[in-house]
Amino acid sequence: MKIGIIGIGLIGGSLARDLKKVYAEAYITGIDTSEAHLETALKLGIIDAKGDESSLKDAEIIILSIPVDAAVNVLPGILDTVQDEALIIDAGSTKTLICATVKTHPKRRNFLACHPIAGTEFSGPSAAIEGLFEGKTNIICEVEKTAFKLQEKALEIFQKLGMRIRYMNPEAHDKHIAYVSHLSHISSFMLGKTVIEKEKNERDIFDMAGSGFESTVRLAKSSPAMWTPIFDQNKENVIETLEEYIQNLESFKQKLKEDDLEGLYKDMQDTNKIKEILKGIPLNKL
Ligand code: NAP
Repeated sequence: MKIGIIGIGLIGGSLARDLKKVYAEAYITGIDTSEAHLETALKLGIIDAKGDESSLKDAEIIILSIPVDAAVNVLPGILDTVQDEALIIDAGSTKTLICATVKTHPKRRNFLACHPIAGTEFSGPSAAIEGLFEGKTNIICEVEKTAFKLQEKALEIFQKLGMRIRYMNPEAHDKHIAYVSHLSHISSFMLGKTVIEKEKNERDIFDMAGSGFESTVRLAKSSPAMWTPIFDQNKENVIETLEEYIQNLESFKQKLKEDDLEGLYKDMQDTNKIKEILKGIPLNKL
């Protein structure tokens, strides 16, 4: 089974590891703008060979796991290149623009738009983890626009990787993901920024930081190269979530100023509902 992976970082590399495990016959060619990442992926045995766009001509499966701005730029050209039976799956964290970009492409039926809700704050092939997708949700958009035989092939792969499937339209995906993923990242980035700016001496931060700070600021270690285009592509939804979030921060500040301790208590008590909502979902499955 010839597989091409464009972007052999955290997601592409983790997929490569799992695909090798479940398909003994998988031969994986890595394509990446970073020569260093390709070398690392080869050394770690994540890929079997380095390649370029010409290596995709006879690939059966192609995974596109690069930042979402680059994905939108390269996908039409990849579809032009591939053989008629090839399945191209993307992993981008935004779905509206990529689906719109290939809407009228003659090979639209070779493409399946996906977003595996799995990851960490780390990047590159050395961050790739075996089993990253086990028990996680994979959101598939516009499934009806992919050839039925290729949908079946993709579902078999996702099932072997242990993923749950949810179907959504791209606009609904981008709206919902703005709340549960994009806002969490902004909130973590800005918490980190606020603390770093105030505590110029980083040693003080580490001396005083407990596990609460560390877990809340974890996402601030994420790659700006990945997140800038995500915020750009999902700008309208992200701005809407930010407005609601800022309103809540303002309201918290106001209550504190007015000594409205009862109001603060109630806000926090109401938010404790999150325990019930997330109950039974292990942290590593969120
Ligand atoms: P990553 O670890 O940074 O890997 C991306 C790789 O693609 C890097 O090696 C990068 O090289 C390379 N690259 C960038 N532009 C390229 C291009 N035009 N052609 C070929 N290679 C290119 O990123 P990732 O976390 O795997 O994310 C990949 C995709 O998955 C993104 O679309 C992201 O939205 C999505 N995703 C991420 C997560 C997550 O938690 N990380 C979860 C779900 C989905 P350089 O480093 O040199 O730029």
